[in-house]
Amino acid sequence: MFVLDSHCDTPSQIYRLRDIGVRNAHGQVDFPKMKDGGVDGAFFALYVPSAFGPEKATSYAMELLAGVCDTLARNRDKAVLVTNASEAYEAKSKGLLSVFLGLENGSAIQKSIPLLRLFYRLGIRYMTLTHSGHNEICDSCAPAAARWGGLSPFGREVVAEMNRLGMLIDVSHISDESFYDVLECSEKPVVATHSCCRALAHHRRNMTDEMIRALAAKGGIIQINFYPVFLDDTFASRLEASGIEARGEAVEVDFINDPADPAKRAAWYAVEDELAALDRPSYKRIADHIDHVVSLAGVEHVGLGSDFDGIAVTPSGMENVSCFHKILEELDRRGYSDNDIEKIAGGNFLRLL
Ligand SMILES: [Zn+2]
Repeated sequence: MFVLDSHCDTPSQIYRLRDIGVRNAHGQVDFPKMKDGGVDGAFFALYVPSAFGPEKATSYAMELLAGVCDTLARNRDKAVLVTNASEAYEAKSKGLLSVFLGLENGSAIQKSIPLLRLFYRLGIRYMTLTHSGHNEICDSCAPAAARWGGLSPFGREVVAEMNRLGMLIDVSHISDESFYDVLECSEKPVVATHSCCRALAHHRRNMTDEMIRALAAKGGIIQINFYPVFLDDTFASRLEASGIEARGEAVEVDFINDPADPAKRAAWYAVEDELAALDRPSYKRIADHIDHVVSLAGVEHVGLGSDFDGIAVTPSGMENVSCFHKILEELDRRGYSDNDIEKIAGGNFLRLL
């Protein structure tokens, strides 16, 4: 069995000066905690905020990548960069964690197919087409008004080139219209690396039953996100009513802009503690979303994409990656066979890779 987390924002935390070679009190992901959680590998997403202009988007993605490379160079005894399933299995046989790379936001390729190819050559094996804003490739699910009404003409070229390169297309964050356009254009299966089921929680980041069936019919996979807001509507309302997120945003921006300042770091940790003190859904809610996908599309089309280090609050019992094994244990309790659990834990995603 290979346990794979298909999405975490750990490069952003490395950028905020976290040393993931050692155990961190506050961080959701570091190498010791991955070992504790029984996680064999993770996609480190280079997350580029939609607010960045084209040049800043590219240079910021490069800075995040540089941080990951430096981290791996300092931790050769713990982890290694991998780009395919056989390298990942080989790393596991040597007792090393696998770090895969994803690019979260196609804004970083600007409007350039050669830049897309360069990111592939640097080891990026999936690209999330956009994030919380529309870009040159397609519309996001976040803004109310459409820009393209789905994929742009350039976006169609991007899909074709990603298919040719063998780079997975990540449909998390894109609008429903963009999703159906991608599904129609792509000659290869596509993935949602960190999304949940809209039938169980209404957020627009989640996928409808129809979308999940269509994704699976073309061989794709939805990897369930651990963010309580995407898992559970009751929690989403509770969080909004608390006002913590709105208040915490400024504190986080302050911290991001000056991560070396201990006071700013402490202020952000205090916000995280306040969020953790809320009445949060159990981690078993993740298994409810898995059950739902399985009921729609079968066990071959679902997996786990935590979004750790990109989410300020987690389900109860799933505070960080060291708890990861508990989801697999919950699936076992629910009657999934070892073979099914192996697929959900990482087998499905590695098959597509
Ligand atoms: Zn995301």
